[in-house]
Amino acid sequence: MKTIIEPFKIKTVEAIRFTTREERERILKDAFYNPFFIHARDVIIDLLTDSGTSAMSAEQWASMMRGDEAYAGSQSFFRFERVVRKITGFKYIIPTHQGRAAEKILFTVLGGEGKYFPSNTHFDTTRANIEFSGAEAYDFPTEVGLRPEIKGDFKGNMDIEKLEQFIKEVGPENIPLVMLTVTNNSGGGQPVSMQNIRETRQVCDKYGLKLFIDACRFAENAYFIKKRESGYETRSILEIAREMFSYADGCTMSAKKDGLVNIGGFLAMNDDELAMKCRNVLIVTEGFTTYGGLAGRDLEAIAQGLEEVLEEDYLKYRIRSVEYLGEKLVESDIPIIEPPGGHAIYIDAKRFAPHIPPEQYPGQSIVCELYLLGGIRTVEIGSVMFGKYDKNGKLIPAKMELVRLAIPRRVYTQSHIDYVIEVIQEVYKNRKKLRGMKIIEEASILRHFTAKFGYVD
Ligand SMILES: *Cc1c(COP(=O)(O)O)cnc(C)c1O
Repeated sequence: MKTIIEPFKIKTVEAIRFTTREERERILKDAFYNPFFIHARDVIIDLLTDSGTSAMSAEQWASMMRGDEAYAGSQSFFRFERVVRKITGFKYIIPTHQGRAAEKILFTVLGGEGKYFPSNTHFDTTRANIEFSGAEAYDFPTEVGLRPEIKGDFKGNMDIEKLEQFIKEVGPENIPLVMLTVTNNSGGGQPVSMQNIRETRQVCDKYGLKLFIDACRFAENAYFIKKRESGYETRSILEIAREMFSYADGCTMSAKKDGLVNIGGFLAMNDDELAMKCRNVLIVTEGFTTYGGLAGRDLEAIAQGLEEVLEEDYLKYRIRSVEYLGEKLVESDIPIIEPPGGHAIYIDAKRFAPHIPPEQYPGQSIVCELYLLGGIRTVEIGSVMFGKYDKNGKLIPAKMELVRLAIPRRVYTQSHIDYVIEVIQEVYKNRKKLRGMKIIEEASILRHFTAKFGYVD
């Protein structure tokens, strides 16, 4: 088999500024050991997120020139609406400036005290928006989904039994909707099978509940279904995506992921009354219904991006390049979530640095070392992001301690990734020297964005 190459040529480049270890030591200290405080120009390879970091195609840039900036009823909106409807089949398409704006609107309308929102795994902004409304968010991943060392085809799945048990426990009348995140971002970028989507639908039908898909990586998920689920081998990505959405009553979407753009998102649904309420919130908080916080040119770029993301050559390269990074790390015995997910590799920090207890944030320590050694920016997805405190102020650790290496779409080449592999190998070789960390200052919500850290003495 020949190397799977990038299905594009490079037309515009952006220079990378190289820093020395001494510079990075100072930079990291000034950033309070939190990668979110590091300036982008001080980063060599930026794997902080795959969100909004995609390289746009020549066709997307060209389409932006066509942006119709009319306040109401712009042609760009209708093009955007047409493409989103072609993929999702939903009746109402509401543009928002990004995914969390769609979530904010949805949970402002449906959330509130006494409401419960179950999911395979809520993403952090989804959970935050649910909790901000006064409602409660619950995750029901499957057992294998929580076991980084076990391989599985669809580790992003919902635990259907636990979901049903939960519905009976809190009462379907208190559950405005069930959510499915595809792929399951916080659960390791792992896909959800069509069968699992169908079974989730069946449970929702049984109790008269709505099902919404958090669709940020719907195309990557569709590609996994094509490759791994029987009966889908010959179906197109569009057909698979359409089937996925056909089981849902609506979706939230961050176009910053599989929309292949730098900003944008949408909320979509079939319910007339819910759509009316959401549009009213949209007008108050985002903008009129045909632009929702975006410029006409942004809507054009999303419409074009959503066409490109369905191309199989793109998805083949995309999934393979993430898998390549994972494969090389596994060959060096570096513990990661297996198999690799769609958009990121997750290092299992518990196995990487077993000498650091969760209370000392092993993931954060690895994040810092990757930056110090190679100027690589990654993010902790563990007790820094999801840890809570009990009544006595003792940390309740997250279920997993991970370091995420998110791969921006169409941005880095194989040699960039080879460099990343070399840096991780070296950190792993010297892993016993990794030190525990502590939080010096933090906010009560989404603390990982602004917390300040120091090393444990
Ligand atoms: C990124 C993301 C969101 C939030 O989208 P933003 O555009 O960052 O606001 C929601 N859910 C998932 C699964 C995501 O990956």
